[in-house]
Amino acid sequence: MTDVDMLSPLLPLIGKRAADLLAAQLEIHTVGDLVRHYPRRYVDRGKLTDIAGLEIGEHATLVAQVEKATLRDMRARRGKLLNVVIRDEKGATLDCTFFNGHKVQHVIRPGVRAVFSGKVGVFNKKLQLTHPQFEPLDEADEVRPFLSVYPATGKVNSQEIARCVRQVLELLDDPTDPLPAGLRQREGLAELGRALRRIHVPESEADFHAARNRLVWDEAIGVQLALALRRQATVSRPAAACPPKPGGLLDAFDAALPFTLTAGQHAVGAEISADLAGEHPMNRLVQGDVGAGKTVIALRAMLQVVDGGRQAALLAPTEVLAAQHARSLRTLLGPLGRRGELDGAEQATAVTLLTGSLGTKAKRQALLDAQSGAAGIVVGTHALIQDNVGFADLGLVVVDEQHRFGVEQRDALRGRGELAPHMLVMTATPIPRTVAMTVYGDLEVSALRELPGGRSPIATTVVPLAEKPAWLQRVWRRVHEEVEAGHQVYIVCPRVGGDNGDNGRDDPGDDLVDLDDPDEGADSDDGSARRPPLAVLEVLPRLEEGALHGLRLGVLHGKLPPDEKDTVMRAFERGELDVLVATTVIEVGVDVPNSTGMVILDADRFGLSQLHQLRGRVGRGSAPGVCLLVTEAPAASTARERLDAVAGTTDGFELARLDLELRREGDVLGALQSGRRSGLRLLSLLRHEEIIAKAQVYAADIVADDPGLRDHPGLAALVGETVGDEERAAYLDKV
Ligand code: ADP
Ligand code: MG
Repeated sequence: MTDVDMLSPLLPLIGKRAADLLAAQLEIHTVGDLVRHYPRRYVDRGKLTDIAGLEIGEHATLVAQVEKATLRDMRARRGKLLNVVIRDEKGATLDCTFFNGHKVQHVIRPGVRAVFSGKVGVFNKKLQLTHPQFEPLDEADEVRPFLSVYPATGKVNSQEIARCVRQVLELLDDPTDPLPAGLRQREGLAELGRALRRIHVPESEADFHAARNRLVWDEAIGVQLALALRRQATVSRPAAACPPKPGGLLDAFDAALPFTLTAGQHAVGAEISADLAGEHPMNRLVQGDVGAGKTVIALRAMLQVVDGGRQAALLAPTEVLAAQHARSLRTLLGPLGRRGELDGAEQATAVTLLTGSLGTKAKRQALLDAQSGAAGIVVGTHALIQDNVGFADLGLVVVDEQHRFGVEQRDALRGRGELAPHMLVMTATPIPRTVAMTVYGDLEVSALRELPGGRSPIATTVVPLAEKPAWLQRVWRRVHEEVEAGHQVYIVCPRVGGDNGDNGRDDPGDDLVDLDDPDEGADSDDGSARRPPLAVLEVLPRLEEGALHGLRLGVLHGKLPPDEKDTVMRAFERGELDVLVATTVIEVGVDVPNSTGMVILDADRFGLSQLHQLRGRVGRGSAPGVCLLVTEAPAASTARERLDAVAGTTDGFELARLDLELRREGDVLGALQSGRRSGLRLLSLLRHEEIIAKAQVYAADIVADDPGLRDHPGLAALVGETVGDEERAAYLDKV
């Protein structure tokens, strides 16, 4: 047989049936795919329990032989039970019951040895395992100290995978290690071949820890190289330099600014200014908590670009926000933004709003202004760029509040023109360090950690309806009190409602709903089915006729036509509405200083960072804000713990870290990958911070020395394994 390497197809190495199944079920096609399909966990044979020592309620894992298996009809339901008696090496027996009898009877036959694991219960006064998990053992397993348990599917079980892996490992020559020996030595990393063997067939616990550690490095390096290459590809494009212009628009703006910039705004502003003066595009992320004053930073950057004779575009995630941004930019600019108007300043520029919902005439004018360059600043939604609006000379793209934007969308915004625009991304979601190093790894990061002075504190309180149902009345009374004091209040629900089969979720593109997956039921500690989340359209009439009767209520959600959204938002801004019942459409950027109260219904249905964002909408003026997190989640549930965390801290970074812990990280890392199957199996943004940081430095050095990775074919392959070959080609072929 010819040499077997990571790229060899599996077919001649393992049977056709197995090869077909692995391909169809797990997308495993090559030797590399298979040996990178790592065990999910290990069963330590030294830690198996004896049947004689079992205790009620414990979770037990034991090896035993099936002695008897009897198929029976179920009493109350259709289907068959399989009643099984198993016997361990010491001769003790135990009953097990399987509910899917007709299915498992083919596997669980007398004589079969298997690992059984499950919770020990009692039935007919005898101990038993009810519907335990099981992994049949073959002879080869018997002598091993650890049993590897693989991610499997209904049609390919773990043991079959294990067998294929062992077969292939025996034929496979140790692959050439992509990680240079120097790095391996410095970090004490096992060689790739050894690590691959040990992760599948460990002899000791230390073995699989060492193997994993090494393989985590592969993934971290793969990701960081991909990002370094991407950074290089974008940064090496030419851009128009826009150095600051003495006596220009920016200087005039600074002179007229009614407040002094915070130290953070100064520092970040200086970084941006230096970037804009360069001949390669800026790629910078500014992260600053809600209310940190990012708009002024963005505007100052835009003015420097306008001073350079070019245009700036500001993109918001929704039309409501775009309209609001246009208004606040015009307000901030004053006469400096009223070019061509009677009271406009001499060197004034113009701010143009360009959204899909403009009337035909207004839209034509806005397009003209963008094309002719009459508009120095064009504000719109992301569609602005996707629709190929013509700009006379686009020098800067500012993307606001786009914390759910992927690396690829950013690429699209950078355009394919000869000169790349500078790019500034603004996010209010605090980003844990590892996320910044991965998902935003193509950007330089600036952080604004202080808020401008004079901001009022927000008091957040959990309203636990499970124990204190009467508190709901107090919530509504509080809303009345805020309104009587001349303030305004938001009431937020997780859903729009009025469904026509879409499950009532708000349009995700607009409202950015970030609900926990309701099917997961991770939060319902009792495992019971949950009622659907409360909906704006159901809550509104109840409040209008009930608890909030007499107040002026408005409604805002993603399903409203854009002009209606805008009308409602403006009415709220002008104080013509007391209460706004809304979805998370208000999460980002909405700035109404007179609003002091927020009631979040079914608060446990939102993510932590999202709750933090939402409450940032209140207390933006001088009056203190209050945020009430209403929940039916039972005391001492995880859902309640999360809400207590939000109530307990106003530190967005801390909440973001907690959020990351609670969310499936795959979602976060998934945004990095366009490929079919994730190349990231072991890398964790929580556990591997140090490795990710080191890999980042290492990758930057390699790419600086060898931009096309020509001297590092192994590393180039690693990039492909991590982000897919297509993306790898996109970076490497450009060099
Ligand atoms: P965000 O970072 O959430 O986008 P904004 O830019 O909307 O915050 O700023 C929030 C409010 O703070 C705005 O009304 C803005 O004018 C005001 N602001 C910004 N910078 C300062 C400052 N240095 N001093 C006082 N107020 C400021
Ligand atoms: Mg903002």
